[in-house]
Amino acid sequence: MPSETGTSPLCSYELLGWYERAQRDLPWREPGVSAWQILVSEFMLQQTPVARVLPIWTEWVRRWPTASATAAASPADVVRAWGKLGYPRRAKRLHECATVIARDHNDVVPDDVDVLLTLPGVGSYTARAIACFAYRKRVPVVDTNVRRVVARVVHGRADAGTASPSRDHADVAALLPDGDVAPRFSVALMELGATVCTARTPRCGLCPLSQCAWRRAGYPPSAGPPRRVQTYAGTDRQVRGRLLDVLRASDSPVTRAELDVAWLTDTAQRDRALYSLLADGLVTQTADGRFGLAGEE
Ligand code: SF4
Repeated sequence: MPSETGTSPLCSYELLGWYERAQRDLPWREPGVSAWQILVSEFMLQQTPVARVLPIWTEWVRRWPTASATAAASPADVVRAWGKLGYPRRAKRLHECATVIARDHNDVVPDDVDVLLTLPGVGSYTARAIACFAYRKRVPVVDTNVRRVVARVVHGRADAGTASPSRDHADVAALLPDGDVAPRFSVALMELGATVCTARTPRCGLCPLSQCAWRRAGYPPSAGPPRRVQTYAGTDRQVRGRLLDVLRASDSPVTRAELDVAWLTDTAQRDRALYSLLADGLVTQTADGRFGLAGEE
């Protein structure tokens, strides 16, 4: 049984009981999924909805079940397999991460947060998520959803405001129950933020938590500036995506003219997007002037 000191504003019994009933059926949470495969899911889930990650992750771990298998793939194949998940630099970083784990860690994902933080593409959130979800360590795992739930339940605010890693980690560490139930508490807190205590329309009628400072205070509005709505259409990200679509669809490098038809709206923007892809190493230019996915010749 989880310990419950009575001092925490967030009752672990309520949260864990709800999670038992309401958790989503996600394949990377299944027993037997390896630390490497959990790491892959965490890379993919950064800023990307679960529904888009599911098919790509499933195929990825079938094709490359280990870090060494991923490391042995060509960078171009990895970028191609990333498909339309977006933010494709993550694919390249994942490949680099696989290479380091295979070469320096005997093909085993490290379990220590400080060692995890030395891996390419692994930041503060991802390191703690792997330590917690793959190795059941009692470490605070703080993503956007968790910050929002804590802001509401504990601090009575509509949103979390500017991130402060040390303060955010201390906030969540203070809520973690003792013992081996802590990792389950962490995933349950994330799940609550992702599915019930959402940013725009929290579903308080479905919330398992009987104590919530924001609800108790009558839902005072956010004190910060209004949330910016992220647009995609017309951005450099969209143009980069279009250019990568052309390259993914081809088994061999393509000419500049074939690439140019991907974006005719603004040629300067198209050039900028192409140069940024070249600078990121996601696209390479062959000796005869054609363009291919990372490392293709
Ligand atoms: S009561 Fe509403 S605002 Fe408070 S944690 Fe639950 S869903 Fe979020």
